Amino acid sequence: MKIAMIGTGYVGLVSGVCFSDFGHDVVCVDKDAAKVEKLNRGEVPIYEPGLDVLMQKNVEAGRLSFTQDLPQALDGAEAVFIAVGTPTRRGDGHADLTYVMAAAQEVAKLAKDYIVIVTKSTVPVGTNRQLKQAVRKANPDLDFDVASNPEFLREGAAIEDFMKPDRVVVGVQSQRAAEVMEDIYRPLYLREFPILVTDLESAEMIKYAANAFLATKITFINEIAALCERTGADVKQVSRGMGLDGRIGNKFLHAGPGYGGSCFPKDTRALARTGQEYGVPLHITEAVIAVNEEMKRRMIDKLLDLCEGSFNGKTIAVLGATFKPNTDDMREAPSLTIVPALVGGGAKVRICDPQGEREGTERLPGVQWVENAYKAVGNADLVVILTEWNEFRALDLKRIARRMNVARMADLRNIYSVKDAKRAGFVAYDSVGRTAFE
Ligand code: NAD
Repeated sequence: MKIAMIGTGYVGLVSGVCFSDFGHDVVCVDKDAAKVEKLNRGEVPIYEPGLDVLMQKNVEAGRLSFTQDLPQALDGAEAVFIAVGTPTRRGDGHADLTYVMAAAQEVAKLAKDYIVIVTKSTVPVGTNRQLKQAVRKANPDLDFDVASNPEFLREGAAIEDFMKPDRVVVGVQSQRAAEVMEDIYRPLYLREFPILVTDLESAEMIKYAANAFLATKITFINEIAALCERTGADVKQVSRGMGLDGRIGNKFLHAGPGYGGSCFPKDTRALARTGQEYGVPLHITEAVIAVNEEMKRRMIDKLLDLCEGSFNGKTIAVLGATFKPNTDDMREAPSLTIVPALVGGGAKVRICDPQGEREGTERLPGVQWVENAYKAVGNADLVVILTEWNEFRALDLKRIARRMNVARMADLRNIYSVKDAKRAGFVAYDSVGRTAFE
């Protein structure tokens, strides 16, 4: 089957590469000329483990190609996936559907034969129905169906998630579209991963409800962590004790500096906005958004406490800038709130992140990027762990402490413990949801 994929970002590129690995003939389209050129040179524009090898394999097999030419991609395609961005619209929290609608309009004008227009981008409930009307208006003669196929992959583990999903959700209005979608996902079907076929609205809602639920879980444990700090409880023990309960589960129950990334912040905002528009305020989601913002501010207060009330003149080493390990994505990362507070307060900031520098250079002005943690901490007054990259999980803490001016650590990912820090010679250590020492 031939598939066209519009958008070669974190979702579009991974989906396109994986579909071609299933054996489909995939043409990926992006309007960003530089990106397409890179892809045609065999370079992957994003950092996603394993993607380069899988991409090369399928390009060499002749099943995968990249172009800016949408008509060529659509020629003979039975399905076209829209995997473009849906960022927060300025001002009101709603998802900005400009890119999705623009892509659909282009397809409407260019498609000739029956095609399924599949929305892979995360879009608010009701969007696929609007999209269908817009396509029909733009090209009343086109024989087409729409399908909603939200994506659940996690950056950093995207290929594994795409190839071995917990489920695939497909929202359709016709049997014909359902059959095309089942053909596309048949390789997974054979491996017995559940494919849930629903109506359009339910598929759209599943994605937002799932993301809001996960954001709630993280925020819940972050709030409990704040209470643990005051009461002497240890949030790591608390989350382990909670997570062993099968009804709760241990995933997304790690306290930290607040969620960030390309999905949770914008999707919770968009869901809350949809609730308001329909007169059904989503109080829990709204509280999650507010509490998460508060968490980031709480982290800044922690760092201020460790710096005796002022960042001015201090040298601060920050380990990790991306919103999570194994990605170069910095969209809404906690570092984007925390680092400017340090720089704005007069600190000299050195950052080390295995993949963050390319995007971080632009987003975090006034900081110095260094290649490893030991370089970052030289003569520093505080080291802050912001992202739990593997290389920060087994640091030689004695060596780190020795290199610092004053050995103080803010471990915002709870990798180490008071015991580890004391043993290594730190004079102060704080983390999230556990007793600190200063
Ligand atoms: P992204 O910003 O990384 O990529 C979007 C790409 O689309 C860009 O390369 C852009 O140039 C291209 N594009 C935009 N308009 C186009 C057009 N008309 N024609 C051709 N190309 C066009 O975005 P992303 O992170 O891949 O997210 C895409 C969607 O998937 C969003 O709705 C997001 O919410 C959803 N999603 C993302 C993730 C994730 O982990 N990033 C996970 C699940 C779902």
